Amino acid sequence: MAQSADTKYTKTEDRVFVVSAPSGTGKTTLNRRLVTEHADKIQMSVSFTARPMRPGETEGVHYHHTTADDFKARIAKGEMLEYAEVFGNFYGTSLAELERIRRLGRTPLLEIDVQGWSQAKAKLTNAVSIFILPPSIESLWKRLEKRGTETLEVRWRRLNSARKEIQNGHIYEWFIVNRAVDEAYNELEAIIINGKKGSLGNTEGKALCAELLKEFDEAPWLKKLSAEIAEKKK
Ligand code: 5GP
Repeated sequence: MAQSADTKYTKTEDRVFVVSAPSGTGKTTLNRRLVTEHADKIQMSVSFTARPMRPGETEGVHYHHTTADDFKARIAKGEMLEYAEVFGNFYGTSLAELERIRRLGRTPLLEIDVQGWSQAKAKLTNAVSIFILPPSIESLWKRLEKRGTETLEVRWRRLNSARKEIQNGHIYEWFIVNRAVDEAYNELEAIIINGKKGSLGNTEGKALCAELLKEFDEAPWLKKLSAEIAEKKK
């Protein structure tokens, strides 16, 4: 039977994994490693996006690239499980993509943002959700700087969007702090592949989110940076 955007995924075979994280936390590296090492079990759900293709991206592998009009038409036809506007562009998961992965006998891994998970949560009742956190906001900022691909303004926008995502972190089941990539990977693998409980559950995760939000509000380096950016905008 064809699935509609209202279908609830409640059965064992409807299992999906959802991994979210503020941009710059290293989720893509972790997820790619997981789906490469466990290709027989897990496959990354390829999202639709209306953002321009980046160098090094391959159509149908990283994303299905499309136009904003086509994306809106897909929403209207009920083809999307969830979608969100992230940094001014549409991103979304199609129901057909989940079905494609299931037909292959694998479990889909959704790398979506927090808005997307808050939409899909009620439908994906058999999902395991994981939120990856940076050890500190300062470390997140340094990672964004290290990527060296974006202007100060864009990085600042990403940092502020990280704040919003962390404010909504309470909707996840498990939390992983990406202090060292191998450790974070082992934890992700334990939850997704070995079906283990994570070491940081919702209560611990919420406390970690609160600590990070405190850093946002109180860290002197952030106040200084914010003043510098305001000065530049004048
Ligand atoms: P990027 O442009 O860097 O590839 O992705 C930007 C953000 O969009 C990331 O936070 C990523 O998790 C999110 N994203 C990617 N695909 C989807 C999707 O299908 N749905 C939602 N809600 N977010 C997505």
